[in-house]
Amino acid sequence: MNGAPPALPPEITVFERGWLSANNILFAGPGPATLIDSGYHTHAAQTVALVESALGGAPLARLLNTHLHSDHCGGNALLQQRWPDVQTLIPPGQFAQVRDWDPVALSYVPTGQQCPPFRADGTLEPGQEVELGGRRWQIHAAPGHDRHAVLLFEPGTRVLISGDALWENGFGVVFPELEGEGAFAEVGATLDVIERLAPLVVIPGHGGVFGDVPAALARARKRLEGFVASPLKHARYAAKVLLKYKLLEWQRIAVPDAVAWLRATPYFSALHARYFSELPEPQWAQALVEELVAGGAARREGDLLVNA
Ligand SMILES: [Zn+2]
Repeated sequence: MNGAPPALPPEITVFERGWLSANNILFAGPGPATLIDSGYHTHAAQTVALVESALGGAPLARLLNTHLHSDHCGGNALLQQRWPDVQTLIPPGQFAQVRDWDPVALSYVPTGQQCPPFRADGTLEPGQEVELGGRRWQIHAAPGHDRHAVLLFEPGTRVLISGDALWENGFGVVFPELEGEGAFAEVGATLDVIERLAPLVVIPGHGGVFGDVPAALARARKRLEGFVASPLKHARYAAKVLLKYKLLEWQRIAVPDAVAWLRATPYFSALHARYFSELPEPQWAQALVEELVAGGAARREGDLLVNA
């Protein structure tokens, strides 16, 4: 947002990706080479190529996920195929869902997103530590955006890997809230945890590395206040984000096909029923497409909806 991004310790390389794929963070210093988060599955070949090129022939030894949204773990399967011995560690709350591969519980079916099945070998337990690039990183629970998410913090360098709990400008959609679980308070509590850790540098799940964490926390809290005051505003934002995300995957689609996809995707039907039922679902889906265009996130080319 302002000035050059703060310097990171030399063992850390950040692959800043677009919004369809979350950022990937590679530790290639002392100790086992480790990647944190792997992007969306349509970008998986690029993720593998980035890691291969950065490691210069050394194997990827470990793969960690801050949480299991499809933009954070969609490359896991291909990375495991490329490096079969890679040890994959995930937040504990979804270990059984991965072991038994439950794409409904893992959110991929309800949101209409894709994530090729992958293997989990262990968990990232909040309260414990994990050694990355020769330093000991703390694992903290970070519920809010995702109820199972974790964040990683290294007290010596005061670097924070925040996933979608804190971005330079806001935080990720609060999914449990949309599902009726009242998770805004957890978002606030996770922001408090970050404030107490007092990081100097944040590597977010999306967007560039940033310093000035107090300013980012203030922006996040202001945004949270707005959502608490108007949960409907949050739901409208969430619906647009989920459609835009899919449009990033499609790039272009016929408007009737986009509307049909919205109506066939369970998460949108649930959003409609919970927040927008004063409008019949087909009209709501059409209006959502038009809102995306009006907001500049998409444009119309005749009958086509095109990513913008
Ligand atoms: Zn996420």
